[in-house]
Amino acid sequence: ASASSTNFIKQIVADDLKTGKVSEVVTRFPPEPNGYLHIGHAKSICLNFELADEFGGRTHLRFDDTNPLKEDTEYVESIKEDVKWLGFDWEKLFFASDFFEEMYDRAVLLIKKGKAYVCDLTADQIRETRGTLTEPGQESPFRNRSVEENLDLFQRMRSGEFPNGQKVLRAKIDMSSPNINMRDPVLYRISHAQHHNTGDKWCIYPMYDYAHPLEDAIEGVTHSICTLEFADHRPLYDWVIRECEMECVPQQYEFGRLNITNTVMSKRKLKLLVDEKVVDGWDDPRMPTISGLRRKGYTPEAIREFCREIGVVKSNSTVDEKMLEHFIREDLKLKAPRTMAVLNPLKVVITNYPEGQTEMLEAEINSENEAMGVRHIPFSREIYIEQDDFMEEPVKGYHRLFPGNEVRLKHAYFIKCEEVVKDAAGHVIELRCTYDPATKSGSGFTGRKVKGTIHWVEATQARPAEFRLYEPLISDATAGESDDFLSNLNPNSLETVHGFVEDNMKDAKAQDKFQFFRHGYFNVDSKHSDANKLVFNRIVSLKSSFDV
Ligand code: ATP
Ligand code: MG
Ligand code: MG
Repeated sequence: ASASSTNFIKQIVADDLKTGKVSEVVTRFPPEPNGYLHIGHAKSICLNFELADEFGGRTHLRFDDTNPLKEDTEYVESIKEDVKWLGFDWEKLFFASDFFEEMYDRAVLLIKKGKAYVCDLTADQIRETRGTLTEPGQESPFRNRSVEENLDLFQRMRSGEFPNGQKVLRAKIDMSSPNINMRDPVLYRISHAQHHNTGDKWCIYPMYDYAHPLEDAIEGVTHSICTLEFADHRPLYDWVIRECEMECVPQQYEFGRLNITNTVMSKRKLKLLVDEKVVDGWDDPRMPTISGLRRKGYTPEAIREFCREIGVVKSNSTVDEKMLEHFIREDLKLKAPRTMAVLNPLKVVITNYPEGQTEMLEAEINSENEAMGVRHIPFSREIYIEQDDFMEEPVKGYHRLFPGNEVRLKHAYFIKCEEVVKDAAGHVIELRCTYDPATKSGSGFTGRKVKGTIHWVEATQARPAEFRLYEPLISDATAGESDDFLSNLNPNSLETVHGFVEDNMKDAKAQDKFQFFRHGYFNVDSKHSDANKLVFNRIVSLKSSFDV
């Protein structure tokens, strides 16, 4: 079966509805606002929203903002924008921090039940006494504090009496549990910090493993879908729901994280690239962020199709970046107008074409989608072609322009290279060619054949443009997954070249997408392009590279 048919969670949901275990499906997408979303998050967004949608349920957007030091409203705003841009609309928006009071009350309940205690061990001591896979942990000397003492200390933690790190609240579960997560995990820590949402109201913050199940239960989430690394935390998830006596009992399910070759897929690491100025912000077109992919020219449709195709399975996978590229090509194939751009120009003078004359030639806008109609492009005595489309001494099998050879100009005429003009240093700076009026495109000329077809732009009306060509940011397929990724940066991840586009591109707006004949799909850059200077990002090349 293809991956697209694989979604084991869908089957679980269908069964739960059938057996009456749940009466409706409520999912959530719960990002921590500590960075911009990446394509891995897109997988989780599509999964949660599409799953609920398919069964007539609903999905919440919840900011899992329990760590004041790393979170920021800039990230909150970008996340909302990215989820909407992907095409999803949340039923309700929550901040985990809005539940801090209830979480506190539930912690008090745990203390009263003898299920939680205030511990004075340092973070290091707690780690050292946790034990290992083969050794049980050691009980804290503070484990048997009385309920009264714990209630008093926890209240004083909240009121700000103690500095960071001096005390924590721990669950009292089992220091010899085979699951290390169950060995009296920390539930609350002290952090005197400004929180983006609650300001300085709180100086104690709940840990993920305590907060997350409560958030799900408070919101009425039925299926809490997270990535595989949380599988070992599920017993703790269930413990929190049960011991806190939550009315709603959500179930956690884990699926495989998405990784992509030659790509960094972690907000923390992506933030490093931004902070170290390796890239031009979170939306640099080389970033695997939603905003970076958008600026590069990806469409929501392409990203959603990609996420569907990779499927939802119980193992982590690394997908080839070429697969993502496949989906944007597919999406743009019939949508993007086709036009000609010359990236590295070489001037050609057509010596037998009348001076001062310009004619308009007709060209289809998309040869695979005739409904897009035609455009008109000027042709005259001077044009630009690609430097790569000329070789003074052609290699074997080269069918493009060389002295004495004839080629077809796309949408125009056959031209023949008669003379090569060089500068003092011997560089080719201009070609002198002749054209044959009988060979006009569309005229039905069959007199003779040429082997090469090249593209061009009329010189006097050409618009200067900048083209940004991208390669992966990471030079190695898997180095993005290691902490050492900064030493594997690809020095050629961005190449900027200058050339020309057709004059009819003058109205191109930010985010407009085109297929440049033979070069691939390009997007008008939203940060650097304006009426005076068009800047294009290459989204993806065409499947086949140039043929010699
Ligand atoms: P990161 O390390 O990049 O910050 P995270 O898992 O800590 O990732 P969260 O903000 O907690 O980021 O993620 C929100 C949701 O997105 C979670 O449910 C998480 O499991 C999911 N998610 C994050 N990264 C991926 C990924 N690479 N593939 C699939 N789902 C992901
Ligand atoms: Mg997280
Ligand atoms: Mg994270």
